[in-house]
Amino acid sequence: MPFDIVIKNIRVVNHNKAFIADIGIKGEKIEKIGTITENAKEEISGEGKFAFPGIIDPHTHMGIPMMDTFSVDNFHTGTVAGARAGVTTIVDFTVQNPGDTLLSSFERRKHEARLSHVDFALHVNITEFYKGFLDDMVKVAEKGARSFKVFFAYSFRIPDDLFLRVQERAKEIGALILLHAENGSIIDFLMKRNIERGHLSPMYHGISRPVFTEEDAVMRAILITEYVKSSLYIVHMTSKRGVERVKEAKEIGVKVFAETCPQYLYFTEEAYKRPDGHYFIASPPLRKPEDVEYLWKAIKEGTIDTIGTDHAPFTKEQKDRYKDTFYKVPNGLSVIEFSMPSIFTKIIEKRLPLNIIPRTMSYNPARIFGLEGKGEIKEGNDADIVIIDPKYKKKVEPPYYSVSDISPFEGMTLRGIPQFVFLRGMYLIKDYLFMGHEVKGKYLEQKINL
Ligand SMILES: [Zn+2]
Repeated sequence: MPFDIVIKNIRVVNHNKAFIADIGIKGEKIEKIGTITENAKEEISGEGKFAFPGIIDPHTHMGIPMMDTFSVDNFHTGTVAGARAGVTTIVDFTVQNPGDTLLSSFERRKHEARLSHVDFALHVNITEFYKGFLDDMVKVAEKGARSFKVFFAYSFRIPDDLFLRVQERAKEIGALILLHAENGSIIDFLMKRNIERGHLSPMYHGISRPVFTEEDAVMRAILITEYVKSSLYIVHMTSKRGVERVKEAKEIGVKVFAETCPQYLYFTEEAYKRPDGHYFIASPPLRKPEDVEYLWKAIKEGTIDTIGTDHAPFTKEQKDRYKDTFYKVPNGLSVIEFSMPSIFTKIIEKRLPLNIIPRTMSYNPARIFGLEGKGEIKEGNDADIVIIDPKYKKKVEPPYYSVSDISPFEGMTLRGIPQFVFLRGMYLIKDYLFMGHEVKGKYLEQKINL
């Protein structure tokens, strides 16, 4: 039986090694890596190009309620946008509406995600602590959703004692707890005081959420995790002080994982002073240049495990409505469409090792969230492959695949935009264009084993 597709002479870049080989795809799988002499239905020259494993975005919010509006990408448009950056798998979040159980929120979200053009798993948000929710964690884990997210900020934040209970339950059932790490009561107070004083410009979004609120939440969560001997994944980390606490915890053997996002690796709080500063409002806020530099260092050293996008896009119209009222601007940025290229571009600029991309954007998300057959270009794995021509450059400008008409990267020239993207051997992107309209993503049950 011939191969369906053979990619000839390509530089395969995995998390742990890079080498030149042919990749043979048969059906949905990578059948062979090495020298391939057999014929193929289709052959692609990989000369001078890179093959990365498909990008796994462990943090997206497709079409979620946000303040008085909704994030504008649904699972269809958001995954078309993601495919453009090489994304072949996302892990999105359930939304627990009033009266929802964990199970009902999970079933509804899974139904919404049927529009996805990439494979997907779901984190289960816990934002209502109804009687019996701890038992429902077991039921939803049996459906393959084994990562649960709680918040130390917002009105639906989890009290410390319940966080401990949730961690105990997660440990019992082999699940992983994700945390939005900000101290909500301090933030609520500072926001209120700034509003009373008439300090309403976008800058005050950051001023109301100082670094110590992240550091405090990180420390508290780590101490409880260490006590329970469970594991913890901290989403969208932004600060040197916060990540330093993670580093110390890792050194003494606490199982803690850290995620950051391209926006925190590119922009500082100076962005809030721009005329379009309100477009950058998301929580946690952008920080100082020394934080950005430290995050890159932590990525290089491995303290930061993953790069996700926190993709929660809004349009200019949605954001402009509250231009000068920081606390009313819907929180979130449109990031997924240029996620990997933005990181690729910086890695080249900073002369960092290229395997940072497969490590933080494929291998680690697959390993941490238990996504079997994903995260590495390896025989037997799903044929999720991204092909990049390192010479290709493109200026970021509309129109976008995302419904949002804003990109934080607008005007920048990026490298690393994929020429080809395969999901399980099927074309999502062909010659830089989305071709995956017939491709259906499938739900992935998590097999977490930390
Ligand atoms: Zn998020």
